[in-house]
Amino acid sequence: IRKHSVWTQDKVIKSPYKSIEIPKYTLYDYVWQNLDKWPERTVSVCAVTGRGYTYEKAFKLSNTFAANLRRKFKVRDGDTVAVMLPNIPDYHVVSLGILEAGGVITTLNPIYTAHEVQRQLLLSDAKIIVTLPETVPTIRESLKMAKLNIPIIVVKTNGEPIPEGTALFNELSEDVHVDKSCLKEVRRGPNDICFLPYSSGTTGLPKGVELSHRNIIANCEQINEPLVRMHNDTTPSHQDVIIGVLPLYHIYAASVLMFHKMSMGAKLVTLTKFTPESYLKTIEKHRTNIVMVAPPIILLMANHPAATAKTFDPIDSICNGAAPLAASDVERLMKKAGRQLDFRQGYGLTETSPVVTISPKGLNRYEATGPPLASTEMRIVDENLKNLGPNERGEILVRGPQVMKGYRDNPQANSEVFTEDGWFRTGDLAVADNDGVVTIADRLKELIKVKGFQVPPAELESLLRDHPAVTDAAVIGVPHQTKGETPKAFVVLRNGQKCTEKELSAFVNEKVAAYKHVEDITFVESVPKSPSGKILRRVLKDQYC
Ligand code: AMP
Repeated sequence: IRKHSVWTQDKVIKSPYKSIEIPKYTLYDYVWQNLDKWPERTVSVCAVTGRGYTYEKAFKLSNTFAANLRRKFKVRDGDTVAVMLPNIPDYHVVSLGILEAGGVITTLNPIYTAHEVQRQLLLSDAKIIVTLPETVPTIRESLKMAKLNIPIIVVKTNGEPIPEGTALFNELSEDVHVDKSCLKEVRRGPNDICFLPYSSGTTGLPKGVELSHRNIIANCEQINEPLVRMHNDTTPSHQDVIIGVLPLYHIYAASVLMFHKMSMGAKLVTLTKFTPESYLKTIEKHRTNIVMVAPPIILLMANHPAATAKTFDPIDSICNGAAPLAASDVERLMKKAGRQLDFRQGYGLTETSPVVTISPKGLNRYEATGPPLASTEMRIVDENLKNLGPNERGEILVRGPQVMKGYRDNPQANSEVFTEDGWFRTGDLAVADNDGVVTIADRLKELIKVKGFQVPPAELESLLRDHPAVTDAAVIGVPHQTKGETPKAFVVLRNGQKCTEKELSAFVNEKVAAYKHVEDITFVESVPKSPSGKILRRVLKDQYC
C-alpha cells in the first residue's frame, strides 16, 4: 500500500494499491485457468436439493453446450444469448458455455414480466434464450409482443414436464456425439464484449452496458489485492464456500461471486427461492465462510430471531454492497454475532464491472467503502466538474480498466456519462478523506434502489403516461425501513378524467416485476420541471417527503 498521499496536486485520488497487470485472456480462459488445481472440487451446489457440479464436470458440460450452441443454434462470434434463470447450480455451466461459443451473455431477472422481457430481447438482439420450464409462458408472451421468433432452451432441474417446442439444456450439455471442431473457429479477444447487463445509469430507461472480457478480468484482479480480498486462507486444501443469495443476473453476483470466485476454486451454494429461514439454515448447513450481500440481508441477519451466534459461526467475512447501509445496522450485526467479524463495504455499479472501492481488511469504519481499487483513479467534483478536495462532498468520477466500453447503440447516453478525457460520471455523491477513503453520501441520479435492485423512474413514468386518463407523471424514491427505498408517483390527470390510485397502480404493476410496484400515488396539478423540461425531483422530494 502506498505510503505517500493518494491525492495528487490536481485533486485526483490515486489508488493506494500496486497497479495490476491485466492478463490478455478471454474471460473463459481466465475463469478456467486453475482448473487442474481443483477438478474434483464442487463449483456450485443447490442449497436445498444438493444437486451440483464439480469443476471438471462443469468444464466438460459447458464445453459440450458451447459446441451445440454453435452447431445446432448457429451461434456466431458476438451473438447475444439471453439467460433468464434464478440462482441454480447450472448458471455457471450455461454462462461459461455461452462464452466458449463466442457469445455475449445478457441476463434477465427471472421474475420479469413479458413487457420487461420483450424490451431487453429486442434491444440486445438476443438470438436464443435459456430459461426454466416455468418461465416459458412469459417468454412466449414476450416473443409475441416483440414479434420475435428465437429458440428457447430450458434447464431441467426437477421432474417437471418440458414445454413443447423447446430444446433441453441437459441434453445439449451431455451430448457425447457432438463434433467440437467448430469451437476452433471462435475468435474472441480481451477487448470484445462478453457481458451485456442492463442498467438505467444516471437517467432514462435501462440501457445495454457493454462489458468486455478485459473489463471483468481487470475487476477480478483488482478485488484480488491481498488487503481487499475476502479470500483469507490460501492453504491449498482450503476452499471458500460462498452463499449464493445475490441474484446471478446482477453484475455484483455474476462478476464477483461467479466469475471471480470460479477462478479461485470456490464453491457457490445457490438458493433458488429465498426465505429468511432457508437462508440462515444454509449458512449453518453448508458452512459458508463468505457472505456477500445487499442491505436487506444484513438487516435480516442483524434482526431476525432465527439468526443466532451459531448462525455466524462459519462466517469469516461479510460484505455489503449495492445500496447504502447504516453503521448502526452493522453494529447490531456484530452484537448478534457475538464477535468482531471481518466486515467490508463495497461500492460499484453495473457500468464498472462492478467494483470501484472496497473497505480494506481492518479498516472497521462501517460507513466507509474504502479507497479506489488498484489501477483506479477517482475525482470528487462539483456541478461544474471542478475537482473538490478531501472531505468535500461531490459527484464521484471514475477512470479505470473496469469501466464499461459504453452503452450499446446509445451515443447520446455515452456522451452524457463520459467526459471528453474519459472519466465516467457515476451520478453518486460522496466524500473522500485525506487517505482517499470514500463514504457514499447520496445519489444525484434519479435511479431508485429497492432492496438493492434498480427501479428506473423513467420506466414507471412511461407506463403511467400510457394510461388514457394520465397526462403527466413523475416518480421518486422515498426512504423505506427495510427496502431502502420505494417508488412514489405524482400523477397529473387529463382535464375532466377520473382514475383512482388503485386502478392506476394495477395498470402499471401488471407490467413490471414485484419490486418495482407503485403503491403510493399522489394526484397533483402539475409536475415541477426545469425550463428544458427535466423533472425537478428534488423539488418533489422537498415538498412531499
Ligand atoms: P447497480 O448498477 O445496480 O449495481 O447500481 C449501482 C448503484 O448502486 C450505484 O450507482 C449507487 O447508487 C448504488 N450503490 C452501490 N453500492 C453502494 C454502497 N455501498 N453504498 C451506497 N450505494 C451503493
